[in-house]
Amino acid sequence: MRRSTPRPNTDFMRDVELSREKQRVFDRHLKCLALREGIDLRIIPECIVGSYSEIKRVHMIPVRFIEDYAIGLHELGHSALYHRPEQSREWKEILAWKWARKNSCTWNLTMEEHVAYCLSCWGIYDENPAKYVI
Ligand SMILES: [Zn+2]
Repeated sequence: MRRSTPRPNTDFMRDVELSREKQRVFDRHLKCLALREGIDLRIIPECIVGSYSEIKRVHMIPVRFIEDYAIGLHELGHSALYHRPEQSREWKEILAWKWARKNSCTWNLTMEEHVAYCLSCWGIYDENPAKYVI
């Protein structure tokens, strides 16, 4: 199994820590989405975050920052979208972020900037998935 996204160094780019109430709301929303999609979501402090699409499992840290919530949505997207091995990495990343935006209960500029950063880690600067069909 492989991780689906590179682990970004987020120390320098995190927004303000969310209130405990918002952390709980976003954790609960991720759990609801996982339940809806039949994904085994495991929220584990300090784990390596990633999606294991083959077994529909996502490992996620508890949400503390809005970027954590965005990443959780994105990783659920990887599992929900039934990626196939022959699809390009770029295609998978773009579509998982589209899924994240569509299924988020909120979306803001900080989250969007995080998407751009994560995609840039894969060398993706154009979100047209058709560019990456193989
Ligand atoms: Zn990804």
